[in-house]
Amino acid sequence: MRVKFLGTAAAEGWPGVFCQCENCRRAREAGGKNIRTRSSVLIDDIYKVDLPPDTYLHVLKYGLDLSRVEHLFITHTHQDHFYFEELRMRKSPFAHILSGTVMTVYGNEKVGDTIADMVGDPDYKLRFRLCEPFKSFKAGDMRVTPMKADHAYDQVAMFYIFESMREGKTVMVGFDTGWFPPETWEAIAEFRIDLAIFDCTNGPLEGRRGHMGITAVLEAKAELEKLGVLGPESICFATHFSHNGGLLHHQLEEKLNPHGVLVAYDGLEVEI
Ligand SMILES: [Zn+2]
Ligand SMILES: [Zn+2]
Ligand SMILES: [Zn+2]
Repeated sequence: MRVKFLGTAAAEGWPGVFCQCENCRRAREAGGKNIRTRSSVLIDDIYKVDLPPDTYLHVLKYGLDLSRVEHLFITHTHQDHFYFEELRMRKSPFAHILSGTVMTVYGNEKVGDTIADMVGDPDYKLRFRLCEPFKSFKAGDMRVTPMKADHAYDQVAMFYIFESMREGKTVMVGFDTGWFPPETWEAIAEFRIDLAIFDCTNGPLEGRRGHMGITAVLEAKAELEKLGVLGPESICFATHFSHNGGLLHHQLEEKLNPHGVLVAYDGLEVEI
């Protein structure tokens, strides 16, 4: 499986879109891996997690052909994860999808309600599939299991575990998860994960409801190791960083790398 990090920031981006803070100033000055757009990953070119407002920038920056994406998994409807207005550009005259590829959008009820009119119009070439935590389903070559997140309490926020049936590899993509709810700990114990991506929004700041930071990520990793979900060969990444955490890329590496967690950055590609 080939996993590409398209963006690795929290809702505001880093530097934040309207922000004058010291952390954003330092990121602008340092550039490179410190410039983070809103979070999304692309797996094997046809599976995508979330549709952030920076999607068009991702298309330009990485030369993506989004008409190839067959399966789009939405974690929740916060604007940094579900900039649904962009889907309006899938229809003629805005797009001519010559391949005829239909894209299935997976998500909670709120996601389905939001795009109902587009799904009802065949010109969009969109399908919707309602997901519920812990109910696995097949999407292309993947067996996908949504997990319950501790986030966005006006809806069922989820994160996804992807098992490639072709390659026998498993990837967990966690953006806005918070510390996992008890039912998620119970369900996740059944998995063996090769690549785990954790919500590290808070960076060095404490707190684990809604989002995690460095301390919670390291505890979650240790807990998953104890459960046998992560083994010695498993790879762990932290992502979805907020400017309020303040640690630049190399400083995040100093805190996380010694504990076996790598720091994601925009454009990073991982092959497992
Ligand atoms: Zn977010
Ligand atoms: Zn800032
Ligand atoms: Zn959110």
